Amino acid sequence: MARVVILGAGISGHTASTLLRKKLGKEHEVIVISPKPNWNWIPSNIWVGVGLMKKEEVSFPLKPIYDKQKIVFKQGKATKIFPEGDESNSPYVEFEWTTPEKNGQTEKVTYDFLINATGPKLNFGATEGIGPGKHSYSVCSADHATEASKALLECIKKMKSGQKQKFLVGSGHGLCTCQGAAFEYVFNIEYELRRHKVRDLAEITFLTNEYELGDFGIGGAHFSSGGYNITSKIFAESLYVERGIRWIKRAHVQKVENSRAYYETLEGEESHVDFDFAMLLPPFKGQDMQAFSKSKEDITSKLFAPNGFMKVDADYSGKPYEEWKPTDWPKTYQNQDYKNIFAVGIAFAPPHTISKPMKNPKGTPINPTPPRTGMPSGIMGRVVAESIVDMIKRGKETSPHSAPFAEMGVACIASAGASFLNGSAASITMCPIVPDFDQFPTHGRNIKFTFGEIGLAGHWIKRILHHMFIYKAKCKPGWFFIPE
Ligand SMILES: Cc1cc2nc3c(=O)[nH]c(=O)nc-3n(C[C@H](O)[C@H](O)[C@H](O)COP(=O)(O)OP(=O)(O)OC[C@H]3O[C@@H](n4cnc5c(N)ncnc54)[C@H](O)[C@@H]3O)c2cc1C
Repeated sequence: MARVVILGAGISGHTASTLLRKKLGKEHEVIVISPKPNWNWIPSNIWVGVGLMKKEEVSFPLKPIYDKQKIVFKQGKATKIFPEGDESNSPYVEFEWTTPEKNGQTEKVTYDFLINATGPKLNFGATEGIGPGKHSYSVCSADHATEASKALLECIKKMKSGQKQKFLVGSGHGLCTCQGAAFEYVFNIEYELRRHKVRDLAEITFLTNEYELGDFGIGGAHFSSGGYNITSKIFAESLYVERGIRWIKRAHVQKVENSRAYYETLEGEESHVDFDFAMLLPPFKGQDMQAFSKSKEDITSKLFAPNGFMKVDADYSGKPYEEWKPTDWPKTYQNQDYKNIFAVGIAFAPPHTISKPMKNPKGTPINPTPPRTGMPSGIMGRVVAESIVDMIKRGKETSPHSAPFAEMGVACIASAGASFLNGSAASITMCPIVPDFDQFPTHGRNIKFTFGEIGLAGHWIKRILHHMFIYKAKCKPGWFFIPE
């Protein structure tokens, strides 16, 4: 009998656990440890954040699904990993329960294989004054998005009585990722203001740490759009101009006070922007987990990179940006010191940034960190589940399956107005995510599979994907035929 423990029940962890359960015989155990009772289709939080969907439409309780699938669910937060075990135990993880009945109690769970799928820690603490309960909102969780929508609707109410309002959306720190989510949210706000016929009373500002709009943490892209080859900078800028959204780029938010955000730029200028409503994304870091050897020595730095993400089969030598290669990126997501540990989705440590790292004259780093999107997260979850199934069935020395990150493509649909008749979305596909100038010397990417279009069809596809992925995550009949 083998026991596989999965930390995290988000896009990558849920994909891995459900596939493992389907492919492994009943004699093997699949255990999920995750702190929240619900699964959340995070991309649709954008629509919750503008009040077009309720939290219940983008999330559902995990326990009934796991009970039906015969997956053991322990609602808790992993805190420590002992990859060598101790005198009495084989490798194990320690976690803290988060249910009301057992809140804070700790428990140990031994494992034969461990998957770290704990996603990002939303590091609101990195910027003074940002985040829920402080001076700006977030759409990173369904609860955050619900709060954001209430505040947004308040602003709309004020505008209906003739008051002007200022909106600020974007990156809450110089090292943020997920610019796509901020991009999508600002366009949804703009659309909602038009739908409520108050757009003329709004001033909307997009603040970003990108060097140019359309960088998206992948150093920008060239793609085909409307029959032309254009840059993502032109594609993005034309959308902002068309919708009357002003932008501040190359910016690091220093602190946010009530109605005012202070920032510095890559050029070293310091300034501020006033707002009535702000949604600023936090930077990401790994979850606060520690690791210990058999002799209880702290080996956290052996298992995790300094940013808290887990080391896998990537090149962490820290070579200069100019020297990196696509092959530095992981292929199997297997930790190289402990071959029965894998990290998938946002939890794995990227070897370096894709956008060029930069600092302003004061030494403040201002550049997007690598994007961590859903499609690759799901693929990693599947590939690692397949590797573990093989290792269990054919012996631990079997080489793991691979899905090289540097060869993966990505499809992103950023909604820019949620309406079946006159909504729209920017649909962007990119292959590979990590540019490969050896294979594609002109643009670093295969231009045939790298394109961006905006239109109503994109909105329909986004809506269909919403239903399809929730169907899949609920393990309804035939769920496993739906690709990640
Ligand atoms: C607003 C927003 C919109 C987005 N839109 C898109 C989009 O349109 N398309 C796209 O491709 N991507 C999108 N993304 C990115 C996408 O959501 C992520 O790539 C994806 O969720 C990553 O999956 P994951 O499994 O790594 O992490 P998550 O989905 O975040 O899951 C992490 C899981 O780990 C759990 N966990 C946390 N700490 C612990 C712990 N200590 N122990 C155990 N479990 C723990 C969490 O509760 C959660 O269940 C968006 C992101 C945001 C924030």
